[in-house]
Amino acid sequence: MEKKIMVVATGNAHKLREIAAIFPEYRILSQREAGFTGEAEETGGTFTENALIKAETACKALALPVLADDSGICVDALGGAPGIYSARYAGTHGDDKANRALLLQNLEKMRDDGSRRAHFEFAVALVFPDGRKLTAAGRTDGHILHEECGDGGFGYDPVFFSDDLQKSFGEATAEEKNAVSHRFRALMSLREKAGGALQ
Ligand code: IMP
Repeated sequence: MEKKIMVVATGNAHKLREIAAIFPEYRILSQREAGFTGEAEETGGTFTENALIKAETACKALALPVLADDSGICVDALGGAPGIYSARYAGTHGDDKANRALLLQNLEKMRDDGSRRAHFEFAVALVFPDGRKLTAAGRTDGHILHEECGDGGFGYDPVFFSDDLQKSFGEATAEEKNAVSHRFRALMSLREKAGGALQ
């Protein structure tokens, strides 16, 4: 049987793969594949506001249900930074290597006494052409390592030691990470909230 289509407002191949693994019954399309090449400006002050802005923009253009997210890493000792600025922490959007290097540098003086506590946050919004909106959020906790460990995953994965997995996300397989990730938790919560609307 042909799978139903879910448009995801991202061009990030890693995220698309992770979302596809969490929603195996759907054919996941990026917004570009669905025919929308515009980019919403992330002007919100929270992960949820940004997710809604992205979903509403693509939904309006495509007249299809659109799922959008916003996520990042929040470090306690930095007052929650990089937070919504995670993707461009070091200045250039998407420069993961530079972002990790800056984070390690900014935490250089912090010891392993709880000062390096951090969590990933993921907010997701599902917007329908008839105006219905659903949002959900998830988090996963851990701490920032003193150096990169493992080369799997993306973004801050190699510097994040997961409480749940007792190893860095960079050392984890995709299956291991999916089971405990902020993304998985938020998407599961969204599935629950959506009920019949997602079936
Ligand atoms: P977004 O694409 O605007 O949501 O930006 C998310 C930022 O947070 C990017 O810099 C990602 O590298 C980072 N990020 C979000 N989730 C993860 C994750 O699961 N692992 C590593 N980095 C992540």
